Amino acid sequence: MIVDDQYYDVIIVGTGAGGGTLARKLAPTGKKILILERGEFLAKESSEVQGSELFKKEQFHAPEQWYDENGEPFYPQTNYGVGGNTKIYSGVLMRMRERDFETVQHQNGISPEWGLKYSDFEPYYSEAEQLYQVRGKSGGDPTEPLHSKDYLFPEVAHESHIQAVCDGLSEQGLHPAYLPLGLGDQGRTDSEDTGVTPALKFENVTLKTSAQVVSLHTNPAGTVVKAVQAKIGGESYLFLGDIVVLSCGAINSAALLLRSRNEKHPNGIANRSDQVGRNLMKQQLSVVVQLMADANSGLFQRTVSVNDFYWGDKDYAYPMGHVQNSGGILQDVIFTEAPPILSLLSRVLPDFGLRQLATRSLGWWLQTEDLPNPNNRVRYVGEKLHLDFTPSNVEAHDRLVYRWIDVLKKVEASQPSVFNRTAHPRSDMPVAVVAHQCGTCRFGEDPQTSVLDLNCRAHEVENLYVVDSSFFPSSSSVSPGLTVIANALRVGEHLIDQMK
Ligand SMILES: Cc1cc2nc3c(=O)[nH]c(=O)nc-3n(C[C@H](O)[C@H](O)[C@H](O)COP(=O)(O)OP(=O)(O)OC[C@H]3O[C@@H](n4cnc5c(N)ncnc54)[C@H](O)[C@@H]3O)c2cc1C
Repeated sequence: MIVDDQYYDVIIVGTGAGGGTLARKLAPTGKKILILERGEFLAKESSEVQGSELFKKEQFHAPEQWYDENGEPFYPQTNYGVGGNTKIYSGVLMRMRERDFETVQHQNGISPEWGLKYSDFEPYYSEAEQLYQVRGKSGGDPTEPLHSKDYLFPEVAHESHIQAVCDGLSEQGLHPAYLPLGLGDQGRTDSEDTGVTPALKFENVTLKTSAQVVSLHTNPAGTVVKAVQAKIGGESYLFLGDIVVLSCGAINSAALLLRSRNEKHPNGIANRSDQVGRNLMKQQLSVVVQLMADANSGLFQRTVSVNDFYWGDKDYAYPMGHVQNSGGILQDVIFTEAPPILSLLSRVLPDFGLRQLATRSLGWWLQTEDLPNPNNRVRYVGEKLHLDFTPSNVEAHDRLVYRWIDVLKKVEASQPSVFNRTAHPRSDMPVAVVAHQCGTCRFGEDPQTSVLDLNCRAHEVENLYVVDSSFFPSSSSVSPGLTVIANALRVGEHLIDQMK
């Protein structure tokens, strides 16, 4: 084992939405910061790449196998590289709704209250939107929470055929709004360009890539993490630091804590409560596809957000979820679980080529809140990482899908020249789609029921923090990225105070 001869004030593990943002926040403090990232820099074009080649190679599935609860292996759809999953995300940066922080009754159970409220997160949402150059327009969405600062950057306009669809939605009394998007001059803003690269301009910040953290080592009393062990180029290194912050993604941070068990933490670090790895949530996601009469660009057109069913509707008293459009479906599915939707489409439309499909289709993503369930969990069987996962809120999600197909049929009936076929193949996401993973180390005030305190510090370990999506007590139905970013800014402020 090689012991690094440096001593760091802060060691950050992972460079995704949480870790990359935190690095940027802490960099100006002058404190000595080490960032350990298991992946490498991605070639620039790969976050913009188009075409069918990409999904065939499963490029954005990690080159390692995890196992489902039946022991079936799968390649998880998660990206190991500088910027983490923000290198492959869609840049939809939405705030959770005020009620998402409260106890909400769903048909299949309770979405628990957060220990902090929307008003606690609000200033950091504003800071996050500014940092990630979020483009949006307030006022069109009845569920939208209060913004103390309006969007600094104007919304991305709908393409003309999308505008026609929005007009059809408005005619039905719905409220299509502009989707908030993180978009800079170079395309989607991500935590490499917005977080890591600016942080590295400070000479007190060091990044080591291809550095996979494999274990945390505590002092004999188990109260402090003394060293972080990483595998770099076949060698084992130990890095020493005052504060250790994990941001490996909800599944991998929990896995790292579980793997690091020692005499004082026999069930894994910070796991006296047996909560580490539990309550894994990943939202119910479906894609519904419409077919257009005329070809469109098939490119980036994800601009519509519809939340009319977010809290339910007159026929269903429980929350259903969020709807957003996407571009031509091929452009979009390359970043998700392409094979199921493509095989469905090829059955419905045997005469459609891939390119034609991209330019003749309009995809809709439907997202429903997943409820925390302690049996949905990350666990190790020997060296194998297992995800036990049974989806929750299935009826609410099905209802959202059926409602949405009804809405689309009405739009199509009123605009026959825009749509020439009414097929709505739907694809649900298998366990490998962990894009919206969260909740494996939830924060709270009670050490019996939470892993982290409200500053995202482990209850049991003085200098250990987690700032990825694991802290979520509930998943909400909006995309998680902006909340992860805002929370990293919030925890960053706390750490700056601590280090003064
Ligand atoms: C295809 C796709 C589309 C998405 N679209 C959106 C969207 O439009 N809007 C939205 O809000 N969210 C979206 N998401 C989700 C969003 O990307 C995540 O919520 C967000 O990136 C989570 O941030 P994080 O910091 O928790 O983890 P990640 O971004 O996953 O970062 C984790 C980092 O830790 C590194 N790492 C892991 N293990 C180790 C280890 N042992 N040692 C060292 N480094 C390690 C990884 O390489 C990675 O860089 C999408 C996700 C995917 C996959």
